[in-house]
Amino acid sequence: MKHLIFAGNWKMNHAPADAAAFVRDFLAHYQRMKDRTIILFPPALTLPAVVHGLKERNDIQIGVQNIHWEDKGAFTGENSAAIARGAGAKYALVGHSERRHLFGETDAETRKKVGAAFRAGLIPVLCVGETLIQRERGETNDVVLRQLRAGIEGLDGQHVSQMVVAYEPVWAIGTGKNATPTDANDVHTVLRDTLRQATERVGGVPILYGGSVSLANVQALVSQPEVDGVLVGGASLDAGGWHSMVTTKQG
Ligand code: PEP
Repeated sequence: MKHLIFAGNWKMNHAPADAAAFVRDFLAHYQRMKDRTIILFPPALTLPAVVHGLKERNDIQIGVQNIHWEDKGAFTGENSAAIARGAGAKYALVGHSERRHLFGETDAETRKKVGAAFRAGLIPVLCVGETLIQRERGETNDVVLRQLRAGIEGLDGQHVSQMVVAYEPVWAIGTGKNATPTDANDVHTVLRDTLRQATERVGGVPILYGGSVSLANVQALVSQPEVDGVLVGGASLDAGGWHSMVTTKQG
């Protein structure tokens, strides 16, 4: 049996009071399952409310959706990895496609954020994924490998082995379209091969799939041999739906 990761990216949703209600609702139903890790990525200002709600539950982890690459300084409006860690985050999303495409984040900045996460003791979740045009041109593997290689450039094998990677085709995020389970598995296999060159402990690098994951497709996705879990946006916002998602049986 695999160890699965179910990560919920709330994006810019759930103010602190909504988040507290979500956590209460979810905890009323969810009992620890040893074969899986659950991670919630609330907005930064909501994170303390989630930390507070989960204080008795160390089986549920918390992450931050974005960090700055510098450790401190005059970067108005930004949060450093150390601030996120101090607020209770254990993971950091890095290179989410909305950061890359809406905010112009580059591969080089993504790599700096991976480094900043490690310096502060956060586990980076490096997101990679191709656009629709790139997919139609047959460039999927080239794009995701370029993003992966850039994200881990210069890291030693030990650090690489501590990361999480998420394959999120851009055309599938928030669109209701998703990669077929076998397509996702194929891309994960390519990513895994490259990770294997970067670290001997590649078995330890979970590769998640993200992009319109729903109750209808989650089981088929996590049943694929190279899919170690899912990164879920829209379908992670409702506590009842999220409970059904994270208790999906392994196939
Ligand atoms: C995401 O935000 O990472 C994501 C995959 O969103 P959605 O599940 O809504 O497509």
